[in-house]
Amino acid sequence: MKTLTPTVLIVGAGPAGLAAAAGLARTVDVLVVERESEAGGIPRHSKHLGYGMRDMTRFMSGPAYAAILLEKAKQAGAEIMTHTQVTEFQADGTLVVTSPQGRFAIAPSVTILATGARERPRMARRIPGDRPSGVLTTGQLQNMVHLHGEKLHGRAVIVGGELVSWSAALTLREAGAKPVALISHYPKSESYRIFRGPGRFLFGTRVVTNSAVTRVIGKRTVSGVEIENSRTGERSVIDADIVVFTGDWVPDHELARMAGLDMDPVAKSPMVDSGLRTSKPGVFAIGNLLHPVDTADVAALDGEHVVDQVLAYLGGITEHPAGVGLTVDAPLRWVSPNIIRPRDVRPARGKLLFWTDKYVPLPVVEVRQAGRLIGSIRMIWPAAPGRVFRVPASILNRVDYSAGPVTISIRNA
Ligand SMILES: Cc1cc2nc3c(=O)[nH]c(=O)nc-3n(C[C@H](O)[C@H](O)[C@H](O)COP(=O)(O)OP(=O)(O)OC[C@H]3O[C@@H](n4cnc5c(N)ncnc54)[C@H](O)[C@@H]3O)c2cc1C
Repeated sequence: MKTLTPTVLIVGAGPAGLAAAAGLARTVDVLVVERESEAGGIPRHSKHLGYGMRDMTRFMSGPAYAAILLEKAKQAGAEIMTHTQVTEFQADGTLVVTSPQGRFAIAPSVTILATGARERPRMARRIPGDRPSGVLTTGQLQNMVHLHGEKLHGRAVIVGGELVSWSAALTLREAGAKPVALISHYPKSESYRIFRGPGRFLFGTRVVTNSAVTRVIGKRTVSGVEIENSRTGERSVIDADIVVFTGDWVPDHELARMAGLDMDPVAKSPMVDSGLRTSKPGVFAIGNLLHPVDTADVAALDGEHVVDQVLAYLGGITEHPAGVGLTVDAPLRWVSPNIIRPRDVRPARGKLLFWTDKYVPLPVVEVRQAGRLIGSIRMIWPAAPGRVFRVPASILNRVDYSAGPVTISIRNA
């Protein structure tokens, strides 16, 4: 089998992978492989505005944002291979890919995993009922509408109340369907109030909280969904022609597992330190593979952050002092990064990223080590399920690297 030997291989040409490629390709030989027909990742088929604020200080559509990132990577000299999927990550660091030209191997000095995250489809959510057509994820919906120009009609129910759920509502409207309801199992919809009010007013979409879909109804096509109120146990049916399952993210972690990287069992992401180094020397991870899902600019800034760490590795700095692990208490689900080492770089943007399973309106974040409170901060933003909660990494300033794991918790003030 033919073997390519780029200095750096980046798997995934989304915002994270492309930003890393743009930063590295000026100095070293970079190959980016992408399984889709075009580079750009999710923003490529997410046409609404909302991209680029933190990394480009601009506010633009997903495709425009993806095009700029791609251009920067190409101009820096990165080679980008589309239609090319990595299918194996072997223990010796060799990766096997399939492409229209056939299978070949890649043996790079450094591998950066930037494979992103995907929404759990209906089957993975184990929702019973019929198996009609018209049941989609946001990704599938936006692919149909924005990449293939398909039109839709009828009533749509959106399962989930995250920001991405409103993105699905926008796409449904654009395609000609009417998003009638957003179903959230939380007592309060996860997205910002700024989306809920206009959503109801402009689209006529009601948000149904404390509820879960218990059945999809319809033989060949969807005719409705049955929902159950978790407080009362009452069931009701909403007539619908389309059901879109949104959010409930799972990182695209298969390659990380195959490579034998240490994984966070809850987040299902590879464990990384503040330099985005995984447990395997020369393998780095960035973007929503680590924090499913934050915004695209945060993923791209991971890509920028990893550049110096990769160059340092290639320059011979391959050993790092032992660190301490970061763990979280419920309702926090995960923290990223989850290892910190003495004298290491600060995490990307100087922030720790968290996911919470409960709405905390006035969050106080507390850091404990060996039972002692060593740091605390009162945040002005609520912590809400369905979006990443970001906290300054300075809460870790008093960590003692000889005192064992650090636990981070959250409470309402
Ligand atoms: C509907 C929707 C709306 C959104 N709206 C916004 C918004 O308004 N603003 C915002 O900032 N963010 C938004 N986001 C979030 C944003 O899209 C993501 O944060 C961003 O795309 C993450 O970038 P990434 O590079 O980590 O992953 P991705 O964009 O997911 O890219 C990962 C890439 O890796 C490729 N890949 C995976 N596995 C392999 C493999 N084995 N071999 C080869 N290639 C592989 C995938 O095909 C993909 O192209 C939205 C997301 C969705 C789903």
